[in-house]
Amino acid sequence: MSAIKSKNTKPELSVRTILHKMGFRYRLHDKRLPGKPDLVFRKYNTALFVHGCFWHGHQGCKDFRIPKTRPEWWRAKIAANIQRDHRNSFMLNSMGWNVQTIWECEICPENIEMLATKIKKSV
Ligand SMILES: [Zn+2]
Repeated sequence: MSAIKSKNTKPELSVRTILHKMGFRYRLHDKRLPGKPDLVFRKYNTALFVHGCFWHGHQGCKDFRIPKTRPEWWRAKIAANIQRDHRNSFMLNSMGWNVQTIWECEICPENIEMLATKIKKSV
């Protein structure tokens, strides 16, 4: 099991670094919001989640495979994570936040650029 849940994973850092260089300012892991979004852009009313493909169950992703040991337990665990993610983004939406998600496997400069455009549009 190489996927370890951690607060400051490398992919998340590269998203932060690039967006910061582009001039975005944000708050990290805002506990006051549902799901503690990884980055919160108050100016743009946007909450961003950087989702690890394993823990958040990225469907059809090569980085998302149910482990061979205790597969049922993992399936239930990840299904619960997915449900919680849905609930959180629903709650954020109803509070007036725009919600963006980037999957770890999709993190590359081009996609971050696209994400930046989307964030700017959500003012
Ligand atoms: Zn993925």
